[in-house]
Amino acid sequence: MSNLFSNDVSSNKKNKNTENESARVDGLKLKYEDILSCFDSLEEAIFVFNNNLSILYINKRAEDLIGVKKSIILEKKINEYFEEKDKEKNLEYYLKLSDSKKSFFTFVTFLLAKEGKRLPVKLKVIFNSSNDCHVAVASSFSSKLDEIMELEFNKNILREVIDQVPQMIFVKNEEGRFLLANKALADRFNLPISEIEGSIQHDIQPVKSETDYFLKYDRKVIDTKSRIKTTSSFTDAFGEKRTIEVRKIPIKLPSGEIAALGVATDITKHVEREKELKETSSELSMIVERKNEELLEEKLKLEAIFETVSPGLLLIDDEGNFSLFNKKFEEFYRVLYPEDKEPLLSLNIFSEKFKDDPLFSFIKELIIEKEKVCDTFELSENFFIQVSGVNITSSGSFIGALIEFQDITPFLTLDKLRKNFISSVSHELRTPITSISLSIQFLKKYWERLPKRKIFSTLEVMEESADLLTTLIEDLLVVSKIENNRFKVEKKKFNIIRNINSTIRSFEEQLKSKKIRLEKKFETKDIQYFGDPKRIKQIISNVLDNAIKYSLSNSKIEVTVIKDYVGEYNPDNRKGLLIQIQDHGIGIPSHDLPYVFKPFFRTDEAEKSEGTGLGLYITKNLVELHDGQIFIDSIHHVGTKVSIFLPFIEF
Ligand code: ADP
Repeated sequence: MSNLFSNDVSSNKKNKNTENESARVDGLKLKYEDILSCFDSLEEAIFVFNNNLSILYINKRAEDLIGVKKSIILEKKINEYFEEKDKEKNLEYYLKLSDSKKSFFTFVTFLLAKEGKRLPVKLKVIFNSSNDCHVAVASSFSSKLDEIMELEFNKNILREVIDQVPQMIFVKNEEGRFLLANKALADRFNLPISEIEGSIQHDIQPVKSETDYFLKYDRKVIDTKSRIKTTSSFTDAFGEKRTIEVRKIPIKLPSGEIAALGVATDITKHVEREKELKETSSELSMIVERKNEELLEEKLKLEAIFETVSPGLLLIDDEGNFSLFNKKFEEFYRVLYPEDKEPLLSLNIFSEKFKDDPLFSFIKELIIEKEKVCDTFELSENFFIQVSGVNITSSGSFIGALIEFQDITPFLTLDKLRKNFISSVSHELRTPITSISLSIQFLKKYWERLPKRKIFSTLEVMEESADLLTTLIEDLLVVSKIENNRFKVEKKKFNIIRNINSTIRSFEEQLKSKKIRLEKKFETKDIQYFGDPKRIKQIISNVLDNAIKYSLSNSKIEVTVIKDYVGEYNPDNRKGLLIQIQDHGIGIPSHDLPYVFKPFFRTDEAEKSEGTGLGLYITKNLVELHDGQIFIDSIHHVGTKVSIFLPFIEF
């Protein structure tokens, strides 16, 4: 066709007029007109145009379709007769794409036919840039027009749809070329869709390192023909790092080639929210954990308090069930019901077994009367408890009762001791008085006949008894004065060693009769002390008297005096002296030790010897009147050590 049309229209016109020119085809000489008239009989519309897109020739079919005569068309641009959906991809675009040699392109376009009709046609274009003559052959789809229109419609709808969805949708082939891209994807790349479609991902991806990851999975989908779901990070054209979840499925293209269709969902926000949620929930769980720990600590503290308090405690709920109790209460309960092996938490105060129990009747009364009450009960012989209770209410309604059980045996014992004392004092008084009165009767009756020696010994017995009476009465007086805070001391400076020595001497007879050896361990012979010498004598006498009284015969008593004593019996580290009297006698049982300084207390073993149980009580008070301290250490059946610390008072 190279010689059929010249490059410019004028020469074309000239050619048209030159009827004698001919062409040789397969040895046949044909006129151009004949050839051209052949084109006129074709079903296809033929357009010949040059590099300027100016139409050089159209055949009869083209004339009919566009409704324009050949003679008029020659000045027009071919572009005016074809309408592309994508305005940029028109014939000019394809002309640019074609190289200097021949290039073939086939695409579907709309031919703008007469009376404004748009006919879909398949346009085959042979670009032949080297001789500035191109041929476009439009085959009509008129027979399948509806189908084509529908296809076009569907294509448009599809396009609309995929451009509306927020997900990024694409189709990529094996080499990573985008065959399809939607608006969401184009937005992320900040490029028009037309630029993305046809491009290789490597050329447009903002962060190249991410591309390899995407392509690797595209290829996997294509190679394995299987679906894949990936989550990865993706940096968009604005430098924003997004997290995307991509579902890729293999699809078969009309050419038979397999490509990867991908739908990518931006899950950045979701991931962030999940992270936030995780953080919040871990923070929350930390707070809950901390609160739990605090609560547990509080609970343990409460339990510890509940357990360590000395009274027995019992918490009863509003139905009378034992809901909480401490060890002390359990001890009391086991004394009251030694045979009962039932767990305490299963008990109820309204149960049959407590029906006639005075203690539980009292508690029931407390719950029913709903008042704070108090009473004393004897759990077993000589074991007394005082029970008091209080109802617990919340917003005015009864929710339970807390009952307190206090062991008051020691107080009652003390009271009992006091009562016993009266009989014991009467007894103590009666003994010497009886002895004196008997002696008087004896002397009265027999004094004329009695030898002087007998009279004398009887008088001696009387004197001893009188002395005992005096001591007893003096002790009682001292106790009464102490208890009424009327006891006075007369302090002066004196040598306390001499005082101790003379006191020891007054016990010579007693020591001798029990064959007890007294060992003195004095650091010095003279310690000047400011105090009441009479009371100091009384202190030493009381302790030494006990040591001898409760010692076994043939034993030893050690009396130690340390001038400037430092040690356990001087806890406040004051300047003073220590007097220690240690015996090897009957000792004191450890459970009795806390009571030995209480007035009238005597151990069971001590009952065999004379005494009032007042000695140590008086001694302690006398020591304290000298600002001192007294300690007693004893091992039952081994011996007793009494330590008296007397501080030096400035005088
Ligand atoms: P008492 O007049 O009974 O001796 P005290 O007040 O002097 O009274 O002593 C109280 C009780 O302490 C005594 O009854 C005795 O049980 C016990 N006691 C005191 N000193 C000794 C001791 N050295 N050895 C054994 N028991 C002692």
